Formats: sequence, structure tokens, C-alpha cells
Amino acid sequence: MPFSGKCLAISGGVGGAKLALGLSRILAPEQLTVIANTGDDFIHLGLAISPDLDTVMYTLADVDNKEVGWGQSGESWNFLEALERLGGETWFRLGDRDLATHIFRTQKYLGGSSLSEITRELCLTLGVRQKLAPMTDDKVSTVVNTRDGKTLSFQHYFVRDHCEPVVAGFEFTGIGNASMSEEFSRAITDPALEIVVICPSNPFVSVAPVLRLPGVQDSIMERNVPVVAVSPIIAGQAIKGPAAKMMRELGKPQTASAVAEYYVSEFRGLLTGFVIDSQDENQTGAIRALGLETIVTNTLMLTLQDRIDLADQVLAFTGPRGGTQ
Ligand code: GDP
Repeated sequence: MPFSGKCLAISGGVGGAKLALGLSRILAPEQLTVIANTGDDFIHLGLAISPDLDTVMYTLADVDNKEVGWGQSGESWNFLEALERLGGETWFRLGDRDLATHIFRTQKYLGGSSLSEITRELCLTLGVRQKLAPMTDDKVSTVVNTRDGKTLSFQHYFVRDHCEPVVAGFEFTGIGNASMSEEFSRAITDPALEIVVICPSNPFVSVAPVLRLPGVQDSIMERNVPVVAVSPIIAGQAIKGPAAKMMRELGKPQTASAVAEYYVSEFRGLLTGFVIDSQDENQTGAIRALGLETIVTNTLMLTLQDRIDLADQVLAFTGPRGGTQ
């Protein structure tokens, strides 16, 4: 039976955007809300930058750079080259088209608009018809604690230092006083909500800040709908980024089932299902032992059809919480 209710997808950047695109090709625009992590947001060169929101927005608008997974397609780099000649900071790559988004956002911020309002305006202009919103309009900043006792802002760790520092843990500054965005709480309380999808994003720095916002876990659990996560780890490796490296440094096995274990122990009772790749089929028993229904399928999203097929499998997790076990 085709999925007729509403879906709330929780996303970081690249991995989340891939599945969000698959979902957007199956569902009518009003059936899908995507909530993006904003813990990576920062001010750089005086500009307000929201990397995860922009990755999802560019992907849904089909203006994303499909080779690197961030920024826009057909970019030119005149601004960055000119900045380099001036001796400015160029470690964070800002293409000319991408720059326009950040300048637009910053100008609107200075005029008093919230990140939700600005995102809505950008999406309207770019033709994104699904609802896409930040997790919060308050300031939450992901901080990386390193094993040698340093604290790094997320983008310094991620982009400037190429994820090289060994991590010891993460903090989300400001999260205790932050509220979920209106669109986020509207999606959770929508009577038509039938499923919450946790996209295959980095569990520690993309998904955790969203789920740790005050009230998020309780209000999702009250809805009694399936909450399904897709593993970002396939055959012991992250497809992109430092998720597997972080697991090793945090003393966890680099496996899909260790991701499931992390979600179950950190967000007790929240998840009902976990999707793993066919290459990890041997972990089904361990994941079921955690009380999660498990789907084994191809989760490596190389083509658009891969994204659609995975979205289709994820939406098949309908039915009451735990009712499909
Ligand atoms: P970032 O903020 O841009 O790093 O993006 P995310 O947190 O959304 O994504 C990073 C995670 O996405 C990594 O852990 C990847 O392993 C995962 N990922 C990327 N592409 C795929 C894919 O095709 N399939 C799966 N299962 N995971 C993916």
C-alpha cells in the first residue's frame, strides 16, 4: 500500500540529503518535512553559514554539487581566489554561488529574520516544495573535545583540521536553553505523522544535537509512530566523513550494530527500527537483540534510483510502534 501519511526526516548534511532526496521522489511535497542539524552552523568572514541546511536545500533544489556533496553545481571560485591574494582565510571553501546564499542569509539575519524564516524564503526561491527547517532558531554550537585536552569548534575540527585530531567527546553549547523550531514541533505533533526517519548521517555530531534538543525525544515517543534509523556505517566504514574514525577513537567497534547500540543507549526507547546494508547481514541478530526491527537492504546510495529504493524500504516500516516486530 502506498504511504499516505506524513514523514518527518532528521538529517545532517551529505548522507541525510541523499535519503531526503529519495523520500522527496516518493512522497508528495506536503507529506515530507526535513529537519536539519544546525550544530555545525557558524559565523565565518562575518557570514552566517548553515552547512547542513544548505546541503539538504541544494540537494532538494537539484542545484547541488554532485561530485563533492556540498556547495552548488557549476561553481566558480573568483571570490576565494581574490581573498587568497589578499591573504584572507580560505580554509573554508566558499564558491561564488554559495556565497550569495550566505550573504542573503546574513543580511536577513541582520534585518531581524529567524533562520526558519530565511530558510523558508530561500526554499521558495529555489523551488524546494517540501518543508525544510532548522532544528532550532536558537544558537547551538557543536564543540569537539580532543584526546589531548583541546576544544575545537566543529568547523575547525572538520574542515580546517581535516578531522585529524583524535576525539574524546562532543558538547552542544547552548542546547539546554534551545527550543525546537516551530516547523519541527509542528511536524512532530501533526496528527498525520506516520513515521520518523533518522537519515544515515553522523550519529554523534549530526543526529545527536537534533535529538538532544529539550523535548524532542519525549514528544516523538508520545506519538507512538515508528522511528527508523538508517546506518551510516556500511561494512565497517563511513561512506564519507569521520563517523567510523570517531567510533574507533571513542572506543566503539566500527560496525552498524555499534551505531544501533549507541542510539539505543543514548536515546532510550526512541528507535523502533534500524536499516542496515546487505553487506552487514550478519549483524541482524545483534541488532534484533537490542529490541529493534531490522531491515537488510542496499543502503549505499550511488544513483538516484538507489536513493528512491532505500526511501521506499524505510517507509515500509509503518504500523504502530513495535507493532511490526
Ligand atoms: P555531513 O554533515 O555533510 O558530514 O553529513 P552527514 O552527517 O549527513 O553524513 C555523513 C554520514 O553519511 C557519514 O557517516 C556517511 O557514512 C553517511 N553516508 C553518506 N553517504 C551514504 C550512503 O550512500 N549510504 C549510507 N548508508 N550512508 C551514507
